[in-house]
Amino acid sequence: RPVTIIITVIGVIAIVALVTVAVLQNWPLSQKYKYGIVLDAGSSHTALYIYEWPAEKDNNTGRVEQTHSCTVKGPGISSYASAPQKAGESLTECMQEAVHRVPKKRHHETPLYLGATAGMRLLNVQNSSASNKVFQAVDEALREFPFAFQGARILSGQEEGAFGWVTVNYLDDRLRQGLETNGALDLGGASTQISFVSSNYDGSESPSNSVNFRLYGNDYNLYTHSFLCYGKDQALRMTLAQQTRSGPTSILDPCFHDGYSETKEYSKLYDSPCVSDRKPQEAPSTYIHTGKGNFHQCQEIVKSVFNFTHCQYSQCSFNGIFQPHLQGPFGAFSAYYFVMNFLKLTNTSIPLEQVKEKLAHYCATPWTQIQKQYPNVKHKYLAEYCFSGTYILTLLTEGYNFTSESYPNIKFIKEIKGSDAGWTLGYMLNLTNMIPAEAPDSPPLPHA
Ligand code: AMP
Repeated sequence: RPVTIIITVIGVIAIVALVTVAVLQNWPLSQKYKYGIVLDAGSSHTALYIYEWPAEKDNNTGRVEQTHSCTVKGPGISSYASAPQKAGESLTECMQEAVHRVPKKRHHETPLYLGATAGMRLLNVQNSSASNKVFQAVDEALREFPFAFQGARILSGQEEGAFGWVTVNYLDDRLRQGLETNGALDLGGASTQISFVSSNYDGSESPSNSVNFRLYGNDYNLYTHSFLCYGKDQALRMTLAQQTRSGPTSILDPCFHDGYSETKEYSKLYDSPCVSDRKPQEAPSTYIHTGKGNFHQCQEIVKSVFNFTHCQYSQCSFNGIFQPHLQGPFGAFSAYYFVMNFLKLTNTSIPLEQVKEKLAHYCATPWTQIQKQYPNVKHKYLAEYCFSGTYILTLLTEGYNFTSESYPNIKFIKEIKGSDAGWTLGYMLNLTNMIPAEAPDSPPLPHA
């Protein structure tokens, strides 16, 4: 019948139109994503990152993006040495978020990694059985989730440095295009990393500081070093150890604001392999930590935690560690960013001398005024920003040899194109073989 025929024809036309639009709009394609999850178990906290990329393009285009992050409540996993079970439990909330964020049908194929950094490196040095128990608990907790769990492990300092460099350059799309790369400066609580390519450095002078990559058809000879104990929390311990060598009942610390005063325990201060061998023989159980807010004196104390006396190479940064000539732009992230952002000093086109003056002025501000000015900032961070800023400038200039001329080459960054700077993305790209060694075939030339 004509009516049935007309309805059928209209139906067919509608279906053809819909399919055409869907194909043109890439509908089915844009819905197909793959996912990866990385847990960054840092010294002070753990963060979970979810990455996403189009399923059919994963092997050659720089299109992996962070779609979600979750900060685990409580301290880093190394703080659970005496209650390992709780380290595992602490991850549950963020993991449940991940379960909801990653589409259910992708769960089983989504790789899940946990990488621990310097906090666990230190615990491993101090008490390896406690560190093993923490890993066991974390392992058991993560296995409970529907993802493809690939294991929990401690990253070496080289890996942490090198993958931070990969992340920054991947996100900036420098690798695929073979452009000049950015160096990476990462400041954690327990260690700090510096990684960069220096053109006249071939890696032979100090092989342990050298990492070779072939990425998208380009060879990179990366210099990297991780300084254990030179993260900002352990560096602070070292400056406090320096000031409590004789076991005094109180110290007047130039790195803390005038009017700051808190009673602290010797046993807590020295409970770290970074300072434990310097514990005074005879000391009371507590000391009163008072501040006097003097940037220049603070800088002198901070300098004293770096050793510049020996160097068996052509040139060194500090502690006898080889460092080639600094080259190129640098991205400085993690605590570099948190601290400089708080201090409103992320603009590196401001001359270094002026940056120091601003910090000196901040350090000289009385504690009562600082507290009134920033009522919502976490007490521990607030009390430490003068120290932290001084440490950052001293590490960069005295430690790594940045000068007034090269300081503007540093960019303090938190993220690039919506993905956080840090080792996690580079680590996942590497373990999933997402960056090919050779450049993908170039598209065929158009037919003339
Ligand atoms: P980690 O836990 O080893 O990755 O180290 C992170 C470092 O950044 C620790 O020293 C933290 O105290 C520090 N940090 C995190 N957030 C802030 C913030 N908002 N202000 C200052 N320091 C921070």
